[in-house]
Amino acid sequence: MPAPSLASVAVGRPVRGEYTYSVPESLSGRLSPGQRILVPFGRSMTLGFFLGPAAPPAESANVKLKPILKVLEDSPSLPPDLIALLRFAAEHYRYPLGEVIRGALPPGLTKAEEEKEAKPDVQEFAEALVTEAPAALRRAPAQSATLAYLLTVGGRVPVEEVAHAIPGARETLRKLASRGLVRLEQVVLAPGVREGLGQNRPEHLTPEQDAAVKELHAAVDTGGFQPFLLHGVTGSGKTEVYLRAVERALEQGKGSLVLVPEIALTPQLVGRFRSRFGADVAVLHSALKDRERLFHWQALRKGTVRIAVGVRSAVFAPVENLGLIVVDEEHDPSFKQEDKLRYQARDLAVVRGKQAGAVVVLGSATPSLETLENTRRGRYRKLELKHRVDDRPMPTLQCVDLRQERPKDPLQTQEAPILSQPLLDAMAETIGRGQQVILFLNRRGHSTFLLCEVCGTSVKCGDCDVCLTYHRSQNRLVCHYCGEAHGVPEHCRECTGPLLKLGIGTERVEAEVAERIPQARVARLDRDSATSAERLTELLAAFARREIDVLVGTQMVAKGHDFPGVTLVCVVMADTSLAIPDFRASERTFHLLTQVAGRAGRGKDPGRVLVQTYNPDAEPVRRMLAHDFEGFSEGELERRRALSWPPYTRMAAVRLEGESAEQTASVARFLGDFIGRHMPPASWGVRLLGPAVAPISRIRGKTRWQLLLKAPTHAALAPLLARLEAKLVDIPSAVRVTIDVDPAAML
Ligand code: ADP
Ligand code: ZN
Repeated sequence: MPAPSLASVAVGRPVRGEYTYSVPESLSGRLSPGQRILVPFGRSMTLGFFLGPAAPPAESANVKLKPILKVLEDSPSLPPDLIALLRFAAEHYRYPLGEVIRGALPPGLTKAEEEKEAKPDVQEFAEALVTEAPAALRRAPAQSATLAYLLTVGGRVPVEEVAHAIPGARETLRKLASRGLVRLEQVVLAPGVREGLGQNRPEHLTPEQDAAVKELHAAVDTGGFQPFLLHGVTGSGKTEVYLRAVERALEQGKGSLVLVPEIALTPQLVGRFRSRFGADVAVLHSALKDRERLFHWQALRKGTVRIAVGVRSAVFAPVENLGLIVVDEEHDPSFKQEDKLRYQARDLAVVRGKQAGAVVVLGSATPSLETLENTRRGRYRKLELKHRVDDRPMPTLQCVDLRQERPKDPLQTQEAPILSQPLLDAMAETIGRGQQVILFLNRRGHSTFLLCEVCGTSVKCGDCDVCLTYHRSQNRLVCHYCGEAHGVPEHCRECTGPLLKLGIGTERVEAEVAERIPQARVARLDRDSATSAERLTELLAAFARREIDVLVGTQMVAKGHDFPGVTLVCVVMADTSLAIPDFRASERTFHLLTQVAGRAGRGKDPGRVLVQTYNPDAEPVRRMLAHDFEGFSEGELERRRALSWPPYTRMAAVRLEGESAEQTASVARFLGDFIGRHMPPASWGVRLLGPAVAPISRIRGKTRWQLLLKAPTHAALAPLLARLEAKLVDIPSAVRVTIDVDPAAML
């Protein structure tokens, strides 16, 4: 590239657009795109990013461009394909480019300082030398948990990763090493170091896996952007397909990026990548320390580590020579970031694949309707795994109609029991056979609301427009939106009537199991019980070791777990997510039910699923009970089309939040007028819904309003959104306005 005289620069400040700077003679030979630089901005200096040469400003006559002051690094922190992705993200999600870049970089690179090496490319690894924990360890819970983690993950595990999962693990690992239970070693990372490759590699693929792998290999060999949907039923061995595709990319000298919803919940998946590819894998999770984040960034950037496995933010990982992107559980809501840059990592993964010329695999047993529609339109190729590995049967599904389970005795309460007789029988039988049970209910706490028996008033949070949940273990009422805990009132505040504890949560289910099946060893997995990563790891490990018979939990139990001992899955109430005022409620319910059912019968013993519900005829429940993904999706897509919801429209939400109810309402109306005045021609089909008070009208004492925009395409919305973003500088800072493009949550 000839040395540019003008440079396009993203400044690391919350400002829109790219800025043009002049390039002083002394620096012209040193500039390459993606470098961190120092530029004057306003009256001070700031970190900037050199993005490429700039065209001279149009009416530049009397604009005196400021010069770049300094180049902070010789090899650019940002590779070219990532610059393209970050530019796209800033534009699409209406967020300042400099902030988008700073958000993607590890903190070590976001200061206006010269580059420093994180540390030499040496990483410390730990490996278990035993296959199970010796009895002596029972009295050392920290050591026992740490060893359990190593055994679950398998192979050599970076010490840094264990220390993330289990606080204090560095010290604990030294103790385990001195007892001879663990080996610690320093590994020098270099391209091609692949010890461990081949561990746990099944010799034969299933015919369906084989067909999918062949297609992916061919795509990786040809190179270029090729998107696939890997639709494989639960337990069909999707992970092995990903692993084989990553192997092929490595053989071709290409890097891979694997996105997963939550690492702490799926240590097994990480373990399979780790044991297959050893030190060639960087595991990127949200709790990495700054130094570790920098280390991984630089190792990936240099190509000494060629595979990144990580959560949504890893979509920005600087994998060298990117050949393959995998998004596992692509339907999972956690791929959407809900603050700052509100991106959808699955969508960005596809964009990145297009820009980098990489193969993209979106995998799921329950693909999102967005992805399904892209497949129907021929944009993505579909690969299918319709059968489980080893021809294991899909679990049998049975409905328990709670309307029939209500006690007939008029003197008894009208509520159905939490655990119906069929459920209790099935649980007792399963536990009797030495097998395990998962009970799923997507509500935490003991009772989800308190209601006055006399006047019907429910107890609400003072700061939020929601009911408080009763947590018996803490004997507190907790707001699940602001987290505030309150004492439990004896009587109704309005009329002093007695308060009923209604609505079942996981805590109550756990208590019920303990009471009805006293011989069962019960544990609970939800955000209240898994308070730390340590607790979570230990819980999952204990369940895997079969020290727990019944695991009660929220959607945390529905994730990709692979516990062969689980032969019975019970859904305590399928109805909880049906009535949420969100056009995705039905899809979300179907996904959750199908995913949790998929935890049953993954080992050699067949699985069984019981679903308790008051709505056996509701579409998602009925279709899930019939294993009918196709039928559900067809019907739901029709409904979405008829009502003009995504994937047949694109949306953007403008959300407002302010202390003052009047001021927030008036800004909402102001923005409504502004949008009305700048509406594109009617033929573009843009529609404005609102301004309206948000479905949850108050959170943390702040009043919430929203405006929804719908249009047939994103392109029809884009100019309006750009105008709106520019207008936001005029909004009083007491009202916070955010633009959420392709929003996920409707509340
Ligand atoms: P999915 O992600 O599709 O639900 P997994 O990838 O977790 O399924 O695979 C289910 C189980 O089958 C895992 O325990 C995995 O190790 C095993 N498995 C996958 N492929 C094979 C194969 N070809 N031969 C034997 N076992 C396999
Ligand atoms: Zn609250």
